[in-house]
Amino acid sequence: MGRDGQRKLEERVETAAAAALTRQRFVSAVDVLAGIGWLDGNLIKHWKQGRLDHLEAAIQTNPARIGSALRLLSTWATAKGLDPVETEYVSQTPARAPLRFSASGDAERERLYRTHWISPKLSPAKRDRIVEKAERPPELVVIQPLDAWSCHRCGGSGDLLIMEDPGPSCLACAGLGELVFLPAGDARATRRAKAKSGVYAVVVRFSRARKRYERKGLVVEPDALRDATD
Ligand SMILES: [Zn+2]
Repeated sequence: MGRDGQRKLEERVETAAAAALTRQRFVSAVDVLAGIGWLDGNLIKHWKQGRLDHLEAAIQTNPARIGSALRLLSTWATAKGLDPVETEYVSQTPARAPLRFSASGDAERERLYRTHWISPKLSPAKRDRIVEKAERPPELVVIQPLDAWSCHRCGGSGDLLIMEDPGPSCLACAGLGELVFLPAGDARATRRAKAKSGVYAVVVRFSRARKRYERKGLVVEPDALRDATD
């Protein structure tokens, strides 16, 4: 890449980083790569669902240029006095596997991806909230199907399914067979059950009238349900 190319990339990275920082009070490499148009939102979603080996599989740009963008973000954020916080990324699957970013798996490159740069002007409480929210694993989603369906693993069916890449799976095959249903409506019980359950999933059902998925409750561990409702 020539000097002009490098300067142009620098401008694009800085513009995307500043926009993300304004919007959410922190900026990550994923925000910047999406902001400069190298990463598509749907492909980020697939990666978070554990459907790609690594995030760079979703990026067409050559690895050296991606590396330049990562370093430009780091340099810009350091010069701005932003605080680096390494953030765990885990998949939105029952296994909660750590997500990999780079094709090479290089430790330094993975660290650049994992680092969230946080505005130093925030109060400690606000900063803690932002860090906590970024580290919270994405919620698992379980569907109450409207139509007949069969599990791609065992061929069975049931009241609830979880979508996987090859198709719908029953909760037992997905390793969630123990979980029990807690209907929505009791905010206190919902909050307590979420806090106490090692694993839980949000239960949704498609409303044909409203043409969107609606929350119906949670599935949680039986002990958490008992504690939450006693
Ligand atoms: Zn099954």
